Amino acid sequence: MRVPEYFGSMVFDDRVMKARLSADVYYSLKKTIDEGEKLDLSVANAVAEAMKEWAVEKGATHFTHWFQPMTGITAEKHDSFITPAPDGRVILEFSGKELIKGEPDASSFPSGGLRATFEARGYTAWDPTSYAFVKGKTLYIPTAFCSYGGEALDKKTPLLRSMEALNRQALRILRCFGNDRVKCVHTCVGPEQEYFLVDAAVYKRRPDLLYTGRTLFGARPPKGQELDDHYFGSIKPRVAAFMEDLDQELWKLGILAKTEHNEVAPAQHELAPIYTTTNLATDHNQLTMELMQTIAARHGMVCLLHEKPFAGVNGSGKHNNWSLATDAGVNLLSPGETPHENAQFLLFLCAVIQAVDNYQDLLRTSVASAGNDHRLGANEAPPAVVSIFLGDELTAVLKSIEAEEPYQGAERTRMKLGVPALPRFLRDTTDRNRTSPFAFTGNKFEFRMLGSANSIACVNIMLNSAVADTLRQFADCLEGAEDLDAAIHALIKDTIRTHKRIIFNGNGYDGAWLREAEKRGLSNLRTTPDCVPCLLEKKNVDMLTGLKVYSKAELESRYEITLENYCKCVSIEALTMVDMSRRDILPAVECYAAQVASAAAAKKSLTPELPCLYETELVRRLSGLTDRIAEQTGALERLMAELQAGSGFAAVSCRIRDEVLPAMGALRAAVDEAETLTASDCWPYPTYGDLLFSV
Ligand code: ADP
Ligand code: MG
Repeated sequence: MRVPEYFGSMVFDDRVMKARLSADVYYSLKKTIDEGEKLDLSVANAVAEAMKEWAVEKGATHFTHWFQPMTGITAEKHDSFITPAPDGRVILEFSGKELIKGEPDASSFPSGGLRATFEARGYTAWDPTSYAFVKGKTLYIPTAFCSYGGEALDKKTPLLRSMEALNRQALRILRCFGNDRVKCVHTCVGPEQEYFLVDAAVYKRRPDLLYTGRTLFGARPPKGQELDDHYFGSIKPRVAAFMEDLDQELWKLGILAKTEHNEVAPAQHELAPIYTTTNLATDHNQLTMELMQTIAARHGMVCLLHEKPFAGVNGSGKHNNWSLATDAGVNLLSPGETPHENAQFLLFLCAVIQAVDNYQDLLRTSVASAGNDHRLGANEAPPAVVSIFLGDELTAVLKSIEAEEPYQGAERTRMKLGVPALPRFLRDTTDRNRTSPFAFTGNKFEFRMLGSANSIACVNIMLNSAVADTLRQFADCLEGAEDLDAAIHALIKDTIRTHKRIIFNGNGYDGAWLREAEKRGLSNLRTTPDCVPCLLEKKNVDMLTGLKVYSKAELESRYEITLENYCKCVSIEALTMVDMSRRDILPAVECYAAQVASAAAAKKSLTPELPCLYETELVRRLSGLTDRIAEQTGALERLMAELQAGSGFAAVSCRIRDEVLPAMGALRAAVDEAETLTASDCWPYPTYGDLLFSV
């Protein structure tokens, strides 16, 4: 079958709705989707019936409310359509009520104290802005997940709220520019997703990968990514077969998988979809990550989504390409043809600049996790400092506005002053800075701090909210203005002057930049425990509650959950190290040392005058290492026992950062050294070389 024939074939999308719903029902549903109008039960019943009929034709026997709890992955509980009929047989039924609302027992999902255990029930509510789909034998209904009191227990609810907040404020700005036609403004996202593929048989022999998703030990292989021979290299047949399969499954679900290529590290790859509305992009990215894992298994491989599966080679990130668009498809981050359009563009651009400067901490925090802490600032990843890359041309434009000087741009720039001193310019598509965490790339911003395993919801919640907050201030200022042009000009100028410290066009990986950033007063939140407290800082709470994106209680719960998750992840890693060290590594090194010692003894008994220098020295070094490994394993074990007795995730997370992670590093260093001295057939695990070149 050709791609256009099966693309979206498993999605209950607009096409299917139009074909299967009566005109009345279709238009009421459309109103709900486009304008958020409440759906009445008779319409819901008709939609549910049509959905069920369609899903059963696609082979579905069950339905599920699909949601995104604060675990970072998605959750589902399957109910079959069967209902007993009076004659003892069954019929397949699905009501509007079942479509609209579900009541999963939610007591085991993290709630950060939002839901007292006696009130374990949460409910899921259909999100009609994201299409239902069939996967396997189940009809999936995208839903929001809330507590009985209405507090959001998921990532989708705040995301939808942030999109609405941005919509409201962006419309106010457009109205100031005299634009009355636009009905709504939404954000679009195209997330580029990196991942590793390793052979399943090799993977299964590594307890660290099994339990934690990353290698906790492993000496550097002789060859890593030094030659850059993997990046964009030809794709191996097994990986190509996986990608082909993955594309097909994604396309059936209406996911616009577009680009597949090899990444920098051996065994690392990337998939980029074509951008779409943020809500949908978030659902799609979750599905993509899930399908990557199930399809890899079909091909005898494992897909690693961890941010840093291997030390010493690149980690995996995700790039959140973000823009603002009107319902007519006009990109508000695209420089225009006329000075008037450019003034509007510059205003939105300045809104992003101010938003990113004011809420650097929230943006950084939205990607904070134990896994991503290994990546930010490491090989190839952007530093933990947030800054914006604008490129030379735009920066020059902003400078000229600030200095009240006519813009002397590049030659190809058509310079014309329209609105007082606001220049006319062509957009610069040539600048590409790969080291900036937040780069303007012609008509969109690319936020590159996300870890490969992060849900993109969190980042977009914060970004949308921060920009909405700024646009709100801008609108307040412009709506009352007597001379609009002058007010716009002053606003842009003022924003540049106040927030230019966040703009940095140089090399973000350079140590000098960190010093410069500190001088500029930019925040540098290096680890998750450093980040999370900012969720409860007054300026952030005021902004997020003011826009009704989060309530105070919801923020407190995110604070709890993020720290709890950090503590648990690292604790599991530490305990895994202790276990591997005690039960496999120490015995292996010991065994090899004994082999060498007995070989030397045997040689000496035969020829007493043999010096056996090699054996003697090796045994001495191995024995030194086993002592070190045993000591460090013991130290780590005691530390973990102490922490488990302690309480309060905030305090524990700081001890993990300051004591546990360094102890893990010390243990690893000793083990990795032992690995390089131990015969390969004695070593209990596949090596880095085995893993990185396993496919
Ligand atoms: P890169 O050079 O980083 O690979 P691309 O131009 O290939 O960048 O685009 C990367 C991603 O950006 C893709 O997912 C693409 O769909 C997305 N993208 C392109 N234009 C926009 C836009 N206006 N808004 C949001 N995302 C976009
Ligand atoms: Mg990119």
